[in-house]
Amino acid sequence: MNVLIISAHPDDIEINCAGTAARLIKRGDRITLCNLCSGSLGHMVIKPAELEKMRIEESEAAAKIIGAKRLPFISSDLELYYQDKGTRDKVVDIIRKAKPDFIITHHPEDYMCDHVAVSKLVFDASFCASLPHYETKIDGVVPICPIYYMDNLGGFNFEPTEYVDISKEIETKLKMLSCHQSQLAWMKEHDGIDFTETVKAFSKTRGLQAGAAYAEGFIQMRGWGRMTTRRLLP
Ligand SMILES: [Zn+2]
Repeated sequence: MNVLIISAHPDDIEINCAGTAARLIKRGDRITLCNLCSGSLGHMVIKPAELEKMRIEESEAAAKIIGAKRLPFISSDLELYYQDKGTRDKVVDIIRKAKPDFIITHHPEDYMCDHVAVSKLVFDASFCASLPHYETKIDGVVPICPIYYMDNLGGFNFEPTEYVDISKEIETKLKMLSCHQSQLAWMKEHDGIDFTETVKAFSKTRGLQAGAAYAEGFIQMRGWGRMTTRRLLP
């Protein structure tokens, strides 16, 4: 299957669904990873232009661990607006190019405005991408596809409807997360947490809920044209 994973920032995928991404690769799926924002504001000291470069390298190193392709970002942090047509069309083109059988993205009630914007953009764009007369740079329509919302940091207001057992992938997930070196300091200084420990503990919590050592949780977007009788997640 073709799977498109779209987040806001470079480390969101690693935090919320890298174990699942690793499992998708193992079962032979073709996955495309994409963070729409550059991560330019995620540091106390390093300035945005320098940080962007750093974060491209970090996220590419993380993707390389599982052999996934990562697309370039389209916006700086806090410059992404979901009601902007130009931005929506860029997301339509990402979807038309990736031809996903399903998409994983943020929940529309996530805690941070870039995450919310990405969620709404993906929802709107994945509908637009199915319309033959909705013209963007890339030709070709793709069917409306199922969307799975990834968890959020801390799991607030997020009751998973599906779980993926990542017990065999937890080390890969943490290895991918540790590629985001700039964020280890940022999370400590800005949020007062040990990044790796926090993500590991939370994966364990989702695992406890699902009878696995470690797990990731998802909510399937329920709506016309989005449902299926098949289990799409691994
Ligand atoms: Zn984020």
